[in-house]
Order: sequence, then C-alpha cells, then structure tokens
Amino acid sequence: MQKILSFLPGIEFYLKVAIACTVFQQILTYFWADIKIALIYQILLYWAMGSLSFYGIGLLIENGIKLHPILAQKLNARVVKVKEQPFPAFTLKGVLLGEMKSLVAAGIILYLAPEVHRGNGLFLNVGWFLMRIVCADFCFYISHRLLHRKSLLKIHLKHHEFRDSSSFVAGHKSLLEYVITTLTDILPIFIFGYDITQICAWIIVGNAYNLEGHSSLSIFFISSDFHDLHHTAFNGNYGIQDFWDRLFNTLNPPTKQLRPIFPSNYLTWSDDYDVG
Ligand SMILES: [Zn+2]
Ligand SMILES: [Zn+2]
Repeated sequence: MQKILSFLPGIEFYLKVAIACTVFQQILTYFWADIKIALIYQILLYWAMGSLSFYGIGLLIENGIKLHPILAQKLNARVVKVKEQPFPAFTLKGVLLGEMKSLVAAGIILYLAPEVHRGNGLFLNVGWFLMRIVCADFCFYISHRLLHRKSLLKIHLKHHEFRDSSSFVAGHKSLLEYVITTLTDILPIFIFGYDITQICAWIIVGNAYNLEGHSSLSIFFISSDFHDLHHTAFNGNYGIQDFWDRLFNTLNPPTKQLRPIFPSNYLTWSDDYDVG
C-alpha cells in the first residue's frame, strides 16, 4: 500500500501538467479559433511563446519570488545544502545564440510534423496532454539515464556544472544535449501530429515546470527536492519527476516531500516544513 501511495505525487504532477496545458490551450483557442495561421507565422508564434515564457517565468522566480524572504523560505524545497556558486550572467551574445537555436528548432519541428486539428473538447485535450507528459517523462528518463553512461557523459557535463541550481540552469546544456532533449520532448508530435494551440500550451507549461524544477523551490508543479538531489548527488532521479525512477529503482529518495495535493501544501504550511 505504502508503495502505491508513493506514486501519488508523481501522478499529481502529470495531472497538473495536463490540466494546466488544457487551460492554456483553451485560452489560445479562444483567440485563434477560425483563423488559418500560415506555417511561417506558426513557427514565429511557437518560438515567441517558448522564449517569452522561458524568460518571463524564470525572471519571476529568480527576481520576484526568491527576493521575497517569506515566500522564498516557505517555498524552499532544497534540504541538502551545497556550496554557493555564481551562476553565469546573461550576455547579449548568449541570448541571441539561444534564440537563434530555438527559432531553428521551431522551424524544423513544425515543418516536419504533420498538422492535425483535434478539436476543442476538454476531455480530449486533457487526455492528449496526459498521454504526452507521461510519454515525454518516459523518453526523458531513458535519454537522461543514457547520458549518464560513461561513453555519453561528455554531452551532459555542461548541464552538471552546477551542484546548486537556479531556474536558468534549465537551459544550460550543450548543443547536442539540446537536440536530444528537444527530440525526446517533441517525439509524440511526429507520431500524432501537432495543433498550434496544443504545442504552444505545451511549451509554456514545459518551461514552467522545467524552470521550477531547477529553482530549488516548490511553487506549483514540483513537490520535492527530486531534481535538486540529481544535481547534488549526480546520479539517480533521471526523470522529470519520480514516477519512472520509482518504477525502475533509480530513485534517490527526496528528502523533502511536501504533501501531495495542491493547494494543500500552501494550506498546511507548518513548522515541520520550515527550513530557515
Ligand atoms: Zn543529469
Ligand atoms: Zn537539471
């Protein structure tokens, strides 16, 4: 029984991602319904949504929530302390190169994947996003575990330059790792096709949980120090969340697991969960 219950936070994560994606998809459909968007504008929209959400959410966490002492302490997920490291500063060249990379990726993905219109049904969308996040988590688990093999580790070392982490470490990876993780993330749309509202909703939510997962905070999607421990210990915890690691026995058990169902972790803040 205990073993089954331990999967609940992972399942909660999948459900939150599916529901959040559906909410964004519905909002985008409201504005874009009945408009036929040409491929070139779809590529620009997809790229812009990805970039705006990445920098917007990252800055909100790093320059907003983390500078608020009470919030930062209450939402802290990191228990194991590591030596503080300076994180790389943004440079114009770095940002421009990053944007060119994501624009090229957006162009290739949307050019190659077939476009489909699945309609606007709520259940259909929740089901589609649920399938996608379970699939994406599984593909990420496999590729990330392979990247930790001696023969491939070189590709992944850049991402592990930080034992501590901050939101923007999410995007700190080699070009080859960027290609591999992008492929694992978007693999289902090459098989099942894409709808511009769904793929834009997906990238916004994907950026949100990825940035939060590297922020050492537990704000909405992330319930534990699962990925913090991966950066600190360097092995174990290869998935986006703990589901596949539990199943395949590669879990480095989170030291801080907030109560599972949102928003109960906000409603039940107690001294047990204070770390300051
Ligand atoms: Zn790793
Ligand atoms: Zn990471």
